[in-house]
Amino acid sequence: MSDEYILEVNNLKQHFPIRTGFLQRVTGHIKAVDGVSFAVRRNEVLGLVGESGCGKTTVGRTVLRLYDPTGGDIWYRTASGERVNVAQLKLKDVKPLRREMRMIFQDPFSSLNPRRTVKDLIGEPLLIQKVAKGKALEERVAALMTEVGLDPNYMERYPHEFSGGQRQRIGIARTLSLSPRLIIADEPVSALDVSVQAQVLNLLQSLKDELGLTLLFIAHDLSVVEHISDRIAVMYVGKIVEMAPSEQLLRRPLHPYAEALVSAVPPADPDVKTQRIILEGDVPSPANPPPGCVFHPRCRYANHDSCRTQEPVLEEIEPGHFVACHLARQLSLAGIGG
Ligand code: SF4
Repeated sequence: MSDEYILEVNNLKQHFPIRTGFLQRVTGHIKAVDGVSFAVRRNEVLGLVGESGCGKTTVGRTVLRLYDPTGGDIWYRTASGERVNVAQLKLKDVKPLRREMRMIFQDPFSSLNPRRTVKDLIGEPLLIQKVAKGKALEERVAALMTEVGLDPNYMERYPHEFSGGQRQRIGIARTLSLSPRLIIADEPVSALDVSVQAQVLNLLQSLKDELGLTLLFIAHDLSVVEHISDRIAVMYVGKIVEMAPSEQLLRRPLHPYAEALVSAVPPADPDVKTQRIILEGDVPSPANPPPGCVFHPRCRYANHDSCRTQEPVLEEIEPGHFVACHLARQLSLAGIGG
C-alpha cells in the first residue's frame, strides 16, 4: 500500500448466515459482499454504485467495522502514518479510528434523534471523544454549522424545525465534528428532493476540497455519483464488475451492466438523444446466485458458453479500467450520449 492510498480493501467478504427451523441451523449464506477489492487515494472520491441490494452499503459498514467481515483485509493508513488492518483489529482498537473514519447516513431524519437539539447532535461526538465541552464545544458547534451553511443562531432548535436538506447538513456537520480523514457517505442525497440534492453535493465537494477529505460515496443513482466522484466502481450482486475513472466509465463503459446504468444518466446536452437500456428480469438473490457470470440471465450479450459456466474475474483492460466480463475486449458498448 503506497503512501498515496488511505484505504485499500482486498477480497472483502461479508456473508450473512441464513438460519431456519426450531434449532436455527445455518442452511445457507447471503453473500452480500463476495470478494470486493478497491483502493482509495487521499483526497479522492470513489463512487460505489449499483442497484439496491447489491452490497454497496454493506461494504461501507464493513469498512467501518459496523459488521465483522467474513474474510478479507481493510488496510487503512492512519493520521500518524501507521498502516492498520481494520478487519483484524479488536473492537476496542477500532474505536479510536472512528474519529478518523466517519459515516454520513442516508436518511437525515431517522439518523438524528428528534429529542436532541442541533447543538447536542453536532456536539455529541466531541463530548464522547472528550474533545471539547462547555463554551469551547458551543464555539465548535457554531463553526461547524457555519461551515455547512447553517445559521449557528439555530443551534438550540430541534431537527423537525429544519428542511430535509438542512437536516442532511446537520448530519454532515456531526460527521465533520471530529475532523475525519475518510468519510463513507451512504446514499447521502437519496432522501432529498432533486433540487436540494445538487446543493448538498456541492457542499460535500467544497468540504472535500477545503478540508482535504477522502470520500467513499455510495449511491444507487449513477447520475448522482458521477457529479462528485473521481473514479466509480460498479457493484452487482456482491461484486465489483467495473471500476474506472468517472469520465472513462461514462464515455466508454466496458461491462454490459455499467452500460445499462450509463444509459439512464441524462446527458448534459438536452439535444443529445440517448437510448435507455431496460434490463429484463430481477436481480438474482445473493443467497443463490446463478452459475458463471452472475449477470448472464439479464445480459443481452450473453451468447457465449463461458458466460453461463465461468465466473469472469476483474481484470485491468486499460490502464486504471477494470472489468469482469468475458467479452470486454470484443464488445463495443454505448457510453453517455453515444
Ligand atoms: Fe454479459 Fe457474458 Fe460479459 Fe457476463 S461475461 S456481462 S454475461 S457478456
